[in-house]
Amino acid sequence: MPLSSLKIVGFKSFAEPTTLEFTQGVTGIVGPNGSGKSNITEAVRWAMGEQSAKGLRGERMSDVIFAGTQLRPALNLAEVTLNFDNRDRALKMDQDTLVVTRKIFRNGDSEFYINKKACRLKDITNLFLDSGLGKASFSIISQGQVEAIFNSRPEDRRTIIEETAGVHQYKIQKDAALQKLEKTGDNLNRVEDIINEIE
Ligand code: ATP
Repeated sequence: MPLSSLKIVGFKSFAEPTTLEFTQGVTGIVGPNGSGKSNITEAVRWAMGEQSAKGLRGERMSDVIFAGTQLRPALNLAEVTLNFDNRDRALKMDQDTLVVTRKIFRNGDSEFYINKKACRLKDITNLFLDSGLGKASFSIISQGQVEAIFNSRPEDRRTIIEETAGVHQYKIQKDAALQKLEKTGDNLNRVEDIINEIE
């Protein structure tokens, strides 16, 4: 499921609306230090549901909004739109194109959209869960991350492999089912107690 384009407006150093088209093959983004290359990968991660401001090198999430320069005033909105080509149906939705948009306003309010329909952040993270593109996956490898993987705890490494293999969602579903089972067991015990009391 290739990422076919990315539109950035007001995110970090991108004050001007900027669209990047990704054609078949490898795309290289080059530029001097501090020109915004990492901001591009952060824009992708953010639109896909990143929830850690620190993970985006900020203190608060609203820090991703263009903060202004000597030549330009700050903006009040950051917006990132990702266009995926879903013709291979890698994502379980019956549409050839998937458009994901995330917005944040200076007051901290956020908006999320899937194919231009308003949705919750959870809908976006669920969509990418186990697609191999989730935020715990390694479709995006940031600076220093390779070293961090080698130094991670074995259980954390296992989660990475499970997400990549597509079994992570079943673990989440299993945990939810086990919790339900435990609750049902408690209810059954209570019913048994009541029956014993009546008898
Ligand atoms: P390097 O090659 O050194 O890794 P880079 O090309 O990856 O650099 P980035 O780290 O993506 O560069 O961009 C850093 C630039 O983004 C800095 O100039 C910083 O001032 C600017 N920047 C970050 N957040 C904001 C913001 N909210 N508003 C305006 N500019 C920002």
